[in-house]
Amino acid sequence: MVVNAKRLFECEPNTKQDLHRRSAFFRAHLRGFMSGTFGRIFEVSEIQCLTGGDEVCSFRVALLETAAPRLLARPSERAL
Ligand SMILES: [Zn+2]
Repeated sequence: MVVNAKRLFECEPNTKQDLHRRSAFFRAHLRGFMSGTFGRIFEVSEIQCLTGGDEVCSFRVALLETAAPRLLARPSERAL
């Protein structure tokens, strides 16, 4: 899944010193939102960015694990 963000405040450069900034705040919150919503672990990486001259910031969201770790499973779901 790819999420596009137009005019992302973190990446709109205000000065030339900001040209190498990338989104950490938005990326972390998107990861937390996806993990909280679906109960799985996701990885989010920024694949396009305003700071690189792209029109939008694009974030690739990928599922890292297909199943919950055994320690997080309910006792009734754990195999003995
Ligand atoms: Zn960006």
